[in-house]
Amino acid sequence: MADKNGFTTTILHSDRRSQVEHGAVHKPIHPSSQYAFSSSRELAAVFQGKSGFTYARQGTPTTAALEAKITRMEGGQASVSFATGMAALTATFFTLLRAGDHLITSQYIFGNTNSLLGTLAGLGVEVTLVDATDIDAVRRAWRPETRMVFTETIANPGTQVADIAAIGQWCKEKNLVYVVDNTLTTPWLCRGIDVGASLVVNSLSKHIGGHANALGGTVTSTGLYDWSGYDTIAEPYRKGDPAGWGLLQIKKKGLRDMGGTLSADAAHRIAIGAETLALRMDKCCANALALAQALQAHPKVARVHYPGLPGHPQHERAGQLFGGRYGALMGVELVDELDVFEFLDRLRVFALATHLGDTRSLVLPVAHTIYYEMGAERRALMGISDNQLRLSIGIEDTQDIIDDMLLAME
Ligand SMILES: *Cc1c(COP(=O)(O)O)cnc(C)c1O
Repeated sequence: MADKNGFTTTILHSDRRSQVEHGAVHKPIHPSSQYAFSSSRELAAVFQGKSGFTYARQGTPTTAALEAKITRMEGGQASVSFATGMAALTATFFTLLRAGDHLITSQYIFGNTNSLLGTLAGLGVEVTLVDATDIDAVRRAWRPETRMVFTETIANPGTQVADIAAIGQWCKEKNLVYVVDNTLTTPWLCRGIDVGASLVVNSLSKHIGGHANALGGTVTSTGLYDWSGYDTIAEPYRKGDPAGWGLLQIKKKGLRDMGGTLSADAAHRIAIGAETLALRMDKCCANALALAQALQAHPKVARVHYPGLPGHPQHERAGQLFGGRYGALMGVELVDELDVFEFLDRLRVFALATHLGDTRSLVLPVAHTIYYEMGAERRALMGISDNQLRLSIGIEDTQDIIDDMLLAME
């Protein structure tokens, strides 16, 4: 398909251009768990590296069609899909790092990813947490054993924006594998390839699927990293273009051996959602900015953390990186006099839910839910107060979500 087409056109016509039966505009859902061959030589050829399908743990035509779309969105080389974003991250870290290797990551990352890296550290991978909004802090963490740098684009729930472009430049100088979790920005606001990422992870459960009806994740190779000097790549995957070796190992070991495979049904739902990603994301961002401005001006709000506000520490960086859009996520601290539970129970439009990147606006009290497990002491260290909310803004009519919040504060 012609590359000159825009983001949405490309995704909408992606299946059709690959010759779907009967002129269908969607790739069908292929539930088959196995794929049979008409010749034994063909069977052997697919096992030996020819493209094709064997057993659905390693993917189906339906997951492949979704992977092709994500690859086009990211401007990458190829993608591998997984059952969840966490499965994609697990496959990436556990297939590319070994005991003794060193990983530099941001201190502001998704809590479950932080927990996953704790498991990795227990197996002997050294993990250093740094303030990734500051390139010098990232540089200072370097050691001879450093193999990989991992960061997210916008952090949840504090909305810190890592210096992703400067980190990419530095990783290139140091020949480090650079993995960017693009979930909060999506390839519509930010492409990993443009900030020098080697691999880009997206949780498809969030904005890309968008409708809170399916879980999924992908790893996309940008083709920027030359894996020929990366000795963790096993011999059978050192074939063809070295830019593709890392993803091949993630696919083989992560999907075939670890088995966190995306189902064909979920892949189909996500692919349908992805058709409107750009439209939904623009509306979410516009709604979030309008709400952040309204809340910031309200006497019952102590602080609003949103990159779109000029007072945000990385406001300018976010504007440059994400094309003047600032995402759908914000942190809101209420004044002490407002009871957080009473306030939340007065909301009529916002759903009290932990998800993010949905078409609906969602809210949850951070200290009492996603940060409950870590305890009060650690929360205090991280500056998380008992009346801090996390908001994920949807595509509702703007005034409805503003009114919902303001009325509940009266
Ligand atoms: C939700 C999320 C994940 C995990 O994705 P799931 O599909 O829920 O497993 C990873 N990274 C970030 C930044 C997320 O927000």
